[in-house]
Amino acid sequence: MMGTLVDVVLYADSGAASKAAGQAFERILHVEAVAHPSDEGSPLFAVRQGKGAKVEGDLARILEAAMEVSRASSGAFDPTLGEVVYLWGFGRDDPHLPDPEEVKRALDNAGYDRVATGQCCPEGQALWFDLGGVAKGYAVDDAVRVLEEAGVKAGIVNAGGDLRSFGVRPRRGYWKIGVQDPDNPQELAGVLEIKEAAVATSGDYQRYFKAGDIRYHHILDPATGYPAHSGLRGTTVIAPDCATADALATAVFVMGPEKGLALLEGWEDAEGVLIADDGTIRTTSGIGKGGIKFEKR
Ligand code: ADP
Ligand code: MG
Repeated sequence: MMGTLVDVVLYADSGAASKAAGQAFERILHVEAVAHPSDEGSPLFAVRQGKGAKVEGDLARILEAAMEVSRASSGAFDPTLGEVVYLWGFGRDDPHLPDPEEVKRALDNAGYDRVATGQCCPEGQALWFDLGGVAKGYAVDDAVRVLEEAGVKAGIVNAGGDLRSFGVRPRRGYWKIGVQDPDNPQELAGVLEIKEAAVATSGDYQRYFKAGDIRYHHILDPATGYPAHSGLRGTTVIAPDCATADALATAVFVMGPEKGLALLEGWEDAEGVLIADDGTIRTTSGIGKGGIKFEKR
């Protein structure tokens, strides 16, 4: 689901647990259909064609989380890059080098600052949304909400590394989360310890293709329309909700170590682990406090 494997661990009576897990998976499928529609009659298709749409419910909440991070990052996170992402073929079967002129044109038609607050999206304004940098996190949040409503006391929902834990884990009281080493994703760069929190990671080592000797990955710099090279290879963000953690991880990846750390330090309740091109690891000042620990491997 959401282009990855989704794993749900929960603590409840076994009958209640499997029923609740089923409901959580259903929610994730629903969010996937809303955020990555294949149906041409969906609101996101109408907006893409400039027909306008009333955006409400899950879609409105996903956009709200996305736009908050877009504004705070001055557009390093930009959910309107849909056409540019499409030209690169990321998310489809054949990622490839796009025509630079087409990238330029698609970039001219994009821009988070065109999304008017509270009235997305009026007729006559064509915007191609790609919510791939935030929807997975939102789906995790929504699955957690369903599980809590079903009376599950504690658990964790993990969508390929974007995850959220809730409740007090029996016996241990905390969760250990491995942070992958970008140079060697089978290995860990370190281990996080969290209680109730969301964790999301962006990196250049999961989805990329090679042309000649150059690696082209799927996180684009909205300033150029090309893969971001900010000095970071991996960004892991810890926040109370996973939609925010997901979008922040993408934003920080684009912004680079200095600006990215500043964004996280200024964001209430967000922390981060940033892995630079040379393997250096930097963490925000709140790590080691408030129940979040990080240990290098
Ligand atoms: P993953 O999807 O691997 O978890 P991210 O959360 O970082 O990784 O999201 C990357 C996806 O977000 C891309 O595949 C693309 O769909 C979209 N995207 C790429 N660049 C940006 C950007 N600068 N801002 C917002 N979304 C982006
Ligand atoms: Mg993300």
